[in-house]
Amino acid sequence: MKRIAVLTSGGDAPGMNAAIRAIVLAGHYFGLDVIGYRHGFNGLLEQEYQVLQTSDVNNIIQRGGTILKSARCKPFKTEEGGQQAAANLQALEIDALIIIGGDGSFHGAVHLSQFWSGAIIGLPGTIDNDINGTDATIGYYTAIDTALESIDKVRDTADAFERIFLIEVMGRHAGFIGLSAAVCSGAEQVLLPELYTDRLPDLQALVEHIQTAQKIRGKCSYIMVVSENIWPGGAADLANQLAEKTAIDCRPVILGHVQRGGSPVSLDRILASKLGAYAVEAARAGKTGIMIGERNQKVVEVPFEQTWLKTKALDPYLLHIQQEMFDLVKNSQ
Ligand code: ATP
Repeated sequence: MKRIAVLTSGGDAPGMNAAIRAIVLAGHYFGLDVIGYRHGFNGLLEQEYQVLQTSDVNNIIQRGGTILKSARCKPFKTEEGGQQAAANLQALEIDALIIIGGDGSFHGAVHLSQFWSGAIIGLPGTIDNDINGTDATIGYYTAIDTALESIDKVRDTADAFERIFLIEVMGRHAGFIGLSAAVCSGAEQVLLPELYTDRLPDLQALVEHIQTAQKIRGKCSYIMVVSENIWPGGAADLANQLAEKTAIDCRPVILGHVQRGGSPVSLDRILASKLGAYAVEAARAGKTGIMIGERNQKVVEVPFEQTWLKTKALDPYLLHIQQEMFDLVKNSQ
């Protein structure tokens, strides 16, 4: 093996740079050339790349975003797209490609493998933590902290004015960020997609929860963490409806894309460094068709086809304490 390539694809996540750095340093340690494709799979189609020297990854471990840029790429999904990408990889004599991205990007990896015989290794890079086979994804820990920082600030002002705030967090299909942020911030209520797969949250029950909380504790602040997409019209519409029914001021805060940015926290940097280095070793060992993840502090190799199974569950104990043990309203009845 002489030459490897790396790209970042799909939604960007803090720690992607730390993963690129690890791949470049490990690659050079083993005497390999390292190529960085830019703009995700678009770079593969357009042959837009840069040679990555170790000096290119100086001082990037602490930076959010990705120095290679990320993108989504529809044309890549077609047969012609797959063929073009394979031809470009062959032209550059790439032996292995490391893809840092989410489950969509891993579908892309499998698509590419139909046209190209080089090794393809994935690294889980997404804030949503919705990838099966790894305890955490690169970017997840930072996204929790980012959400938390905002919620803590909102709590201060909510307390001062004894107001109700609905905080909308990312994770349209997975409530990992929502549950963690709710537990860490001591939120009074949390609405997660896993709890509402086939129905909307019960508006009347939410109203009663707020009213009972205020009866028990006196007029006070109340924080509801809401995963995006749970309510038609989002947290803003839900806040309006709750305000109407309770005659209490309910304010929405949509955290949005701030959750994707920022300097990665230590746990993301460690995860990215470990998985990035291991990905290079796996490629050198002739492995292909796998994502490198971590379970119980052990690096694991997960076939791409398992990464997108929707079997990864929220921590049931965390859910229990948030929803039952720490719920003063339920415990007062
Ligand atoms: P995130 O979860 O953060 O959004 P992702 O990797 O899941 O990241 P997607 O937009 O779903 O993001 O996918 C990224 C890219 O992967 C797509 O733009 C497309 O180029 C490629 N891709 C996704 N699904 C497929 C597929 N079924 N076949 C081929 N390529 C795909």
